[in-house]
Amino acid sequence: MNKPLVMTPGPTYVHEDVRRAMQQEVGNPDVEESFFEFYRETCERLKELLKTKNDVIILSGEGILGLEAACASVIEPGDRVLCIDNGIFGNGFGDFVKMYGGEATYLKFDYRRAVDVNVVENFLKNDHNFKAATLVHCETPSGITNPIADICKMLKRYGILSIVDAVSSIGGEPLEADEWEIDVVLGGSQKCISAPPGLTFMSISRDAWNAILKRKTPIIGYYCNLAVWKSWYEDRWFPYTQPVSDIYALRAAVDRLLQDDLRIERHKNIADRVRAALADRGLELYPENGFSNTVTAFYVPDGATFTDIYNIMLSEHNILIAGSFGFLKDKVIRIGHMGENCYEDKILKTFAALDKTFEKLNIDLRNKLPGSR
Ligand SMILES: *Cc1c(COP(=O)(O)O)cnc(C)c1O
Repeated sequence: MNKPLVMTPGPTYVHEDVRRAMQQEVGNPDVEESFFEFYRETCERLKELLKTKNDVIILSGEGILGLEAACASVIEPGDRVLCIDNGIFGNGFGDFVKMYGGEATYLKFDYRRAVDVNVVENFLKNDHNFKAATLVHCETPSGITNPIADICKMLKRYGILSIVDAVSSIGGEPLEADEWEIDVVLGGSQKCISAPPGLTFMSISRDAWNAILKRKTPIIGYYCNLAVWKSWYEDRWFPYTQPVSDIYALRAAVDRLLQDDLRIERHKNIADRVRAALADRGLELYPENGFSNTVTAFYVPDGATFTDIYNIMLSEHNILIAGSFGFLKDKVIRIGHMGENCYEDKILKTFAALDKTFEKLNIDLRNKLPGSR
């Protein structure tokens, strides 16, 4: 059987050109001048994607490494950190803050709704003595995109460093790191970028570098220590041997994404249509607002379990969809319409298969429509 059509919200489908890029000779990235240049140019392309002039680095490890490294490097024991929490990743950020000695203050929101900028504003009026704030652009498990532009600008006015998990939004949602004054933007290779899993990348502002380099206490550990990256290019020295093939793939994937000037419109268009198609079938979206343009989460309809649906989709239609995790496990189904997944033909195939799956499970979707139908 062919590999299934991957419609999960990361890892996403990896295009043939990207896979082919990994077949290039490996060489030795520790000594070859050409690889330092290749790495630098790849960072330049990522800056284009993030709309920033800040430094960008790529680390060898999946997205989680980026989140942990940012916390490990910016936060010192006793630092107060505001953790804006309207989902699983927003809440989990607080764990990293605490792991590195930070004092996490959670500003909690309804998990079915986007963060409310006015609530953040009012909160900060009373309490703004924070070194940093952590926030999530797109909460992938629930399919909610947060209004980070206004929040990050507000944080900057109070002198609070913003650390933004944009792992599942970069490339699919509008994001302007400099315009929005974001200090640290965190990304991963396997979401919208549609490269294989294994890399994280981040932009680091001057204020963030100052916080990292002028700490009173040393950074614990090495792999999560961003300070060791400050002058990699000037010194032509990587803190550790780079995963050459992964970076070749990342570059090819980023180039593909950048070639599509209409990528943001494409994501918005597909996302709107996915939601409309679900509404048409009487299926209920998990979010009440803040609908993501890269992933849609909807409730498992009555009369079936997530596992039933997942299994039929895979075994009979060869399509891989996702459930969710944490408190959403078995409650919602997720379709990842990000990066290489975000094309009309793939969405149409997915819905055709979903319809057949529901039919097979005797779920009469039209009768499930709330109210009228
Ligand atoms: C995917 C993702 C990460 C990386 O974590 P994994 O689940 O281990 O892939 C981090 N943050 C967000 C918002 C993500 O979607």
